[in-house]
Amino acid sequence: MNKQALRADLLDFTARPQWGTPTPDGVRFRPDHWLLVDERGRIVGAQPEQPGSDWLLQDHRGRLLMPGFIDTHVHAPQLDVIGSFGAGLLDWLATYTFPAELRQADPAVARATAETFLDALLAHGTTCAVVFPTVHAHSAQALFEGAQARGMRLITGKVMMDRECPPGLRDDAAGSVRDSEALIQRWHGQGRNSYAVTVRFAVTSTPEQLAGAGELCRRHGGPGGIYMQTHVAESQDEVALVARMFPEARSYLDVYHRNGLLHERAVLAHGIWLDTQDRALLRDTGAHIAHSPTSNLFLGSGLFDWEAARTAGHGVSMATDVGGGTSLSMTRTLAEAYKVQALRGVKLNAFAALHAATAGAAQALRLDGEIGSLEPGRLADVVVWDWAQGPVARHRDAVAQGRLPGTTPQSLHTRLFAWTQLADERNVVASLVAGQARFRRSAAPGSALQEGGLGSC
Ligand SMILES: [Zn+2]
Repeated sequence: MNKQALRADLLDFTARPQWGTPTPDGVRFRPDHWLLVDERGRIVGAQPEQPGSDWLLQDHRGRLLMPGFIDTHVHAPQLDVIGSFGAGLLDWLATYTFPAELRQADPAVARATAETFLDALLAHGTTCAVVFPTVHAHSAQALFEGAQARGMRLITGKVMMDRECPPGLRDDAAGSVRDSEALIQRWHGQGRNSYAVTVRFAVTSTPEQLAGAGELCRRHGGPGGIYMQTHVAESQDEVALVARMFPEARSYLDVYHRNGLLHERAVLAHGIWLDTQDRALLRDTGAHIAHSPTSNLFLGSGLFDWEAARTAGHGVSMATDVGGGTSLSMTRTLAEAYKVQALRGVKLNAFAALHAATAGAAQALRLDGEIGSLEPGRLADVVVWDWAQGPVARHRDAVAQGRLPGTTPQSLHTRLFAWTQLADERNVVASLVAGQARFRRSAAPGSALQEGGLGSC
């Protein structure tokens, strides 16, 4: 690969932006700059001047370039059921999710699913994800192989689930630990793959399986160690069910804590129905919540209390939770996050939201030395976006820039906030992974977008 320079409006974050009223603190916006990427795909700097002829120049002037989004909770096999009618969490699983996941018993289906899913992530401007496959070891294997072929940073692991599910999706405590261990040996640290011990949720694991999952975390913990992903306190029915099934636990979250599953590489989706003690426990263990607003609204699960999370001081990242979530687009996810907070009387500013989906997520995953910003030394996992697509967004952006009669340029926050509300996957021009274009929109906007996937660079 040649060393390359990308010209665009560069946006990233050097510190956590302020909550509430937006201020420029921590926001690094470098309009019309060149981002310099070396032959190994690492960012080496940025400058306003065009670099010399020894650089491969990519001119995206008038477009936005940001670190690729990080989706910290999403289910690959649930592309089958995205947008399915009429269920809350527990009947959603039985009615839609489990039948879809049974289809993945066929390794060829799992491979095809992984390919479609990973290409779709890239087409939506997401370059790193924490992913649920299914109980089948080959479904995790397929994702690892697909991510390695694309050079992507991916975190996944076979689902552990030994009760309260159809027989075809059920493993057993000993077998699930054995299969997980084999996948850890094969894939953790291979390329940019990381393993996550993957407990679906407390309901679908026996106490023996939870203990085994905790033992895996202990055995492979520490710096550079494995992750843990699961769900917690998504709906009130679920919380009540867990309380009945685990009467000895103080809370739903405590079920995981007692089994050694909470640590600094633990990612827990939702966390809507938590109390003050739970939030302190998240902070003290370094575990964090993957906030999934489109899913929470779609399934009617509840409104995430981000203010309480901030007060407690635990991490919050952003997640689509497809298929409960209704889009792989992180901008759509941020737009819904704004609405969830609005219903709580809180105004989520665009800087805080975008930080949570980039640098904030990288920090929560302990990957901030590698991704999430445009700092020299980071891998160039970056996405080039149109500021506007379609007549309404173009009009709105022209107003923000003061380009229409009677308008004056508005603040960066005003322009960006409108972008987070109006942009989606149609705005993605190119997604680069370690400097290599892995998705590139075809020339005619609005036409069939995909020419992405392998070899499109
Ligand atoms: Zn989920």
